[in-house]
Amino acid sequence: MPSAQLRAPVSGVMTPLEEVPDEVFASKMVGDGVSIDPTDDVVVAPCEGTITLIHPAHHALTVRSGAGAEIIIHVGLDTIELKGDGFTPLVAEGDQVTTGQPLLRFDQERIIAGASSLLTQMVIANMDVARNLVPAVGLVRAGQDVALSFELSGDAADPAAEARPVDAVVGAPVVVPCATGLHARPAAVLADRARGFDSQVRLHRGDREVNAKSVTAVMTLDVSHADEVWLSAWGPDADAAVSELSEAIRGGLGETIAATGGTPEGEPAVTEPVETEPGVLRGVGASPGVAVGIAVPLTDPDIPVTDSPSGSPEQEWSVFQAAVERARLQLAELETATAAKVGIYQADIFGAQRQILDDPELIEPVEAAVRAGAAAGPVWKDTYQQYADLLSGMANPLLAARGSDIRDVGLRVLTELTGTIPARAELPAGAVIISRDLTASDTAVLDAERVAAIVLTEGGATSHSSILAQSLGIPAVVGCDPRVLDLAEETEVVVDGDDGTVRVDVPAAELAEVRSRLERDAERRRRNLASAHQPAVTRDGHRVEVVCNIGSLDDVRRGMAEGAEGVGLLRSEFVFMNRATAPSEQEQAELYQAVADLVGEGNRLIIRTLDVGGDKPLPYLPMAAEDNPFLGQRGIRVGLEHQEKVLRPQLRAILQAAKTSRAAIHVMFPMISTLAEFRGAKAILEEERVRLAAPAVPVGIMVEVPAVAMMAEQFAREVDFFSIGTNDLTQYTMAMDRGHPKLAPRVDALNPGVLALIRSTVQGAHAHGTWVGVCGALASDPRAAAILLGLGVDELSAVISAVADVKAAVRDLDLSRATELAERAVSSEDASAVRDLLPPINS
Ligand code: PEP
Ligand code: MG
Repeated sequence: MPSAQLRAPVSGVMTPLEEVPDEVFASKMVGDGVSIDPTDDVVVAPCEGTITLIHPAHHALTVRSGAGAEIIIHVGLDTIELKGDGFTPLVAEGDQVTTGQPLLRFDQERIIAGASSLLTQMVIANMDVARNLVPAVGLVRAGQDVALSFELSGDAADPAAEARPVDAVVGAPVVVPCATGLHARPAAVLADRARGFDSQVRLHRGDREVNAKSVTAVMTLDVSHADEVWLSAWGPDADAAVSELSEAIRGGLGETIAATGGTPEGEPAVTEPVETEPGVLRGVGASPGVAVGIAVPLTDPDIPVTDSPSGSPEQEWSVFQAAVERARLQLAELETATAAKVGIYQADIFGAQRQILDDPELIEPVEAAVRAGAAAGPVWKDTYQQYADLLSGMANPLLAARGSDIRDVGLRVLTELTGTIPARAELPAGAVIISRDLTASDTAVLDAERVAAIVLTEGGATSHSSILAQSLGIPAVVGCDPRVLDLAEETEVVVDGDDGTVRVDVPAAELAEVRSRLERDAERRRRNLASAHQPAVTRDGHRVEVVCNIGSLDDVRRGMAEGAEGVGLLRSEFVFMNRATAPSEQEQAELYQAVADLVGEGNRLIIRTLDVGGDKPLPYLPMAAEDNPFLGQRGIRVGLEHQEKVLRPQLRAILQAAKTSRAAIHVMFPMISTLAEFRGAKAILEEERVRLAAPAVPVGIMVEVPAVAMMAEQFAREVDFFSIGTNDLTQYTMAMDRGHPKLAPRVDALNPGVLALIRSTVQGAHAHGTWVGVCGALASDPRAAAILLGLGVDELSAVISAVADVKAAVRDLDLSRATELAERAVSSEDASAVRDLLPPINS
């Protein structure tokens, strides 16, 4: 095996890479190599090669050696923050360099003043070309002493790069801002936009590159938050492709943008199956609730394929295309059915699956093989299984979960192609489905009446089957100890979707206890639903309005059917998100009108204007990435900044609906923090109202910022109502990110500090006869109703499934006792002391 050597890129003292105080280098995520504590200020070439990259901040560059090693030299730690200050490149990208040639000069003093360390790393990014690395020790001289010896392995040449013409357009590196990296949704947005160009477009990360027009290939690049990627393209519109797509990535591709690392919102912490008490198999709770049932193990269907084509290559290709078209149609039907049965967000899963059918990396190999005389079935099966396995094996749980989607779509096409319908046994009542994985299609057609719980050994809490299980109200555990697959059919098990456990061999007495508790819960739920349409009046005659929060048309139907007396919060984000262009004014007006029709005559419908921001960007509304998105351009701040594009059309659409609606439409502004913001937004509403000759509508604000809660009195002179968003109010009061994986459990709205702010809001509001609602998650907790009523809240806006329970809880209360309780809660020491005060739930 040939060996190779790299000279020291700077003079200094060799330091083991593992000891570098930066996790990314120390854990060799960037690549393996050496670190040097520099004694001078010039970086030189460690070998002959080409400069393939100079980082825009000039603190790092890449040299590609003749043998194909991508050698990254990174001066200092956290030096990206210096934004080029103190660095002078002495070469340009594309330059050929010789060993020892000066590449970059740096100013030691500025780096010491502005960054965390001077340690300079030289690592080989494409480790497949190098093995058996031996670093030097002691003092080394730049360009003279060997700093790293290694053996060359494999073929370092990159076939895709070879195919790329020399005049290909290469974009600048982009740091991926999406909180969860390029998982399915942003990968789909990128691939979709890339397909809009005629040029070949490649996405690069490290030494790997893939077809940017293929969502599957983009996902297999395993791009995480803050990874650096870049694009290359060649063809008629290569320039535009590289610049527009780079910009789109920079803008977050419609995803949550995160400024810092850590586990992204919604992503489960990785849980290893752990040995616990006998009879307990652990996984991750993916859909809440407890169930007792009998194990029904399911196995993956294996559809046999034939090696002989159905006729000529043309015939075989049209047979395959027809199968794909039928699969596409079925997915469209499933999308519609799921939207009606579960909700539009869940239905999107099938929209995303349809895109897989357009993926060139999956379809083109089949076309090529079929045109060369092969049968489509085996090629399709190999291709989709290969991608599904690749994704399922990825460390990023969001990407791993998409492996199941590809398998799902792959099987669907195979079923159509072969006419073989995979057999699924008829489920017994109370079935606990146990499987390696369940496809989203399997989950969507599950009969919630027969399925007591779902247990999967793969998948994550964010996999599509988990999302569907949550929506169907079926408890689920995923990532479960694989020994669960060995359970005999009909074993009795207890599944806890809250703590992620499956219990077997549960003593009969305990089983009976769990069963009777579940029965009591179910009975209480039945009773609460039966009385859901009665008003919520306390024992001593105080009436509270109980309304619901909605995020789709279907939600309104369900909310009103489950006893809501109106809508306390229409999160209008659903109208704007998950689409490539802004909704038109007319489209919005029709939607608000349709919601109002369902809310019904005289009932209140509070439409909150768009609440997006740095953390929830829209693909068609470019917003700069921010270091602290929760403290940046959010809610009304975005509305006021993009008046013409967002706020005014939305207000006109709401006013148009108000002109004909029989429901009482109210407008509410999100994330108000100053009176000036409220006045600005209200003035715009008034201008548009006069222009449209629309009736006056009540105008309120969300109370999410502590300053507003403290100044409620001043606001109450001008606003018609307040609605307290306890989710944000708590995060801003506690200075804890509500989605932070470690802190989120402590972001508790029952914290006495938050309760004191609710009290302040109510006192300020009532001093001017203004009413106060609560629409944050606290209003959906039936046990918290006592405290909220006691604090004087006039309206509770709950999630649909909690409406009947909250109403029942109110009927069990006595206002005078609740008032006393609230006072004690506000002066308690912490949220858990408040929790101890709460009355038990009605039994
Ligand atoms: C809240 O902050 O409590 C709220 C209801 O708004 P959202 O959850 O939509 O931010
Ligand atoms: Mg909020």
